[in-house]
Amino acid sequence: MSALPQSEPAVPTVKLLIDGKFVESRSTEWRDIVNPATQEVLARVPFATPQEIDAAVASAKTAFKTWRKTAIGARARIFLKYQQLIRENMAELAAILTAEQGKTLPDAEGDVFRGLEVVEHAASIGNLQLGELANNVASGVDTYTVLQPLGVCAGITPFNFPAMIPLWMFPMAIATGNTFVLKPSEQDPMVTMRLCELALQAGIPPGVLNVVHGGEAAVNAICDHKDIKAISFVGSTKVGTHVYNRASLAGKRVQCMMGAKNHAIVMPDANKEQTLNALAGAAFGAAGQRCMAVSVAVLVGEARNWIPDLVEKAKSLKIGAGTEKGVDVGPLVSCAAYERVTGLIERGVADGATLDLDGRKPTVPGFEKGNFVGPTIFSGVKPGMSIYDQEIFGPVLCLAGAETIDEAIELINSNPNGNGTAIFTQSGAAARRFQEDIDVGQVGINVPIPVPVPLFSFSGSRASKLGDLGPYGKQVILFYTQTKTITERWFDDSTVSQGVNTTISL
Ligand code: NAD
Repeated sequence: MSALPQSEPAVPTVKLLIDGKFVESRSTEWRDIVNPATQEVLARVPFATPQEIDAAVASAKTAFKTWRKTAIGARARIFLKYQQLIRENMAELAAILTAEQGKTLPDAEGDVFRGLEVVEHAASIGNLQLGELANNVASGVDTYTVLQPLGVCAGITPFNFPAMIPLWMFPMAIATGNTFVLKPSEQDPMVTMRLCELALQAGIPPGVLNVVHGGEAAVNAICDHKDIKAISFVGSTKVGTHVYNRASLAGKRVQCMMGAKNHAIVMPDANKEQTLNALAGAAFGAAGQRCMAVSVAVLVGEARNWIPDLVEKAKSLKIGAGTEKGVDVGPLVSCAAYERVTGLIERGVADGATLDLDGRKPTVPGFEKGNFVGPTIFSGVKPGMSIYDQEIFGPVLCLAGAETIDEAIELINSNPNGNGTAIFTQSGAAARRFQEDIDVGQVGINVPIPVPVPLFSFSGSRASKLGDLGPYGKQVILFYTQTKTITERWFDDSTVSQGVNTTISL
């Protein structure tokens, strides 16, 4: 972090979005946004001042007064327009994303696309934000509910899906009638800002969507702010737990989707080729920087003999800059991430795991300065080893063995994390046993990364989630609204009651 030097050649600055305007921060603290394949500085992002955060919240608070009363259809039509604009600008959005985050261009389009699906969902908000009515709950009395927006809501997002995860949040919050303050990851906020520009172009009025930048101080200010009613957080378990505790203490609604250690069970009856392809894609795609990446494969029985074939599969993947054609594995997001991942690989060796494939120091011609780590595979991995106990968040697949499916399920349920899991098998009975007994939010059956589409909600169990309602899908409507229950009776001459009744009626 540094003060913004005045003398250096102009590097673009990332703006704040306050009250419908993209404004330069007055902060003295700035951070470089760096292309992870080249180390080129792409732009600088400010750490917003407390006054700027207050201004963003104040704008959202004022805008809420009219936005909450804007017709459902008018709100929904903005998202119809917005999805069209995202589609039209897909290639540009993906290019920005790849430059600042590192993932391959096709994968960056996937990142935008999975967010776009939530925007489409927001466009059908009229079907979702419906209350209930019970007729004649007492004689001549009806009760009904309305789902009213909360007010100013906030979102705090991680670096690994800088398009999809902001789009999990603000479209649903705004479509349900709230106004929003977004705090994107300070590592790669540029694609998020482009998406916000398109949102304004689609018709989101001034103050309804605001963006502030920063790290710990900005997040704490959001947690403490008296005018923010709800916070949606996605990121690590450590930060998410802090956000949940701090913001709950301040009386807010909070949902935190957090870290992972996703296990896949490989049964010996699984289709071998399909399973090995799925494991390699899910472990090494996006350089393992997906919260739903498979990071542990539990090989059951004879499947333990598949290790050499899996290593061959992993070796065949091409490492390179995300902009290059045919690349499978891009760079890690930062030098710090590179140090953490290579450090953990060293620890894995020291802890006694077998390093079947070492992806450290790959050769990537033309991109010698990039944060590249190639696919890495350890076998003989056990709880107690750092590579098992920690979320590596890099292209490192740990292999463990089990004699039976029960042993494999027990291993997964004993891990503190419960974000995603999968089983590969041709046995319906094994699959059903797995889905019944596994304590994990997202469960795949021959599907390695079972991220739910927005007809459903993202979930999570144990250390991977705090708060009961998930982002997007049906659950998020309840998260972003307050249920108001109205009981009404109307009188005419024939139904006017006689006298005062001081008892609770039966
Ligand atoms: P992170 O927790 O470091 O950062 C998330 C957000 O918190 C960022 O906006 C960051 O600015 C802020 N932050 C960072 N340190 C903070 C601190 N000390 N105090 C307050 N705020 C702070 O996460 P990340 O590295 O950006 O993202 C990777 C993590 O996110 C992984 O653990 C991954 O599993 C998780 N993740 C989870 C999901 C899910 O749906 N469960 C999805 C994507 C990513």
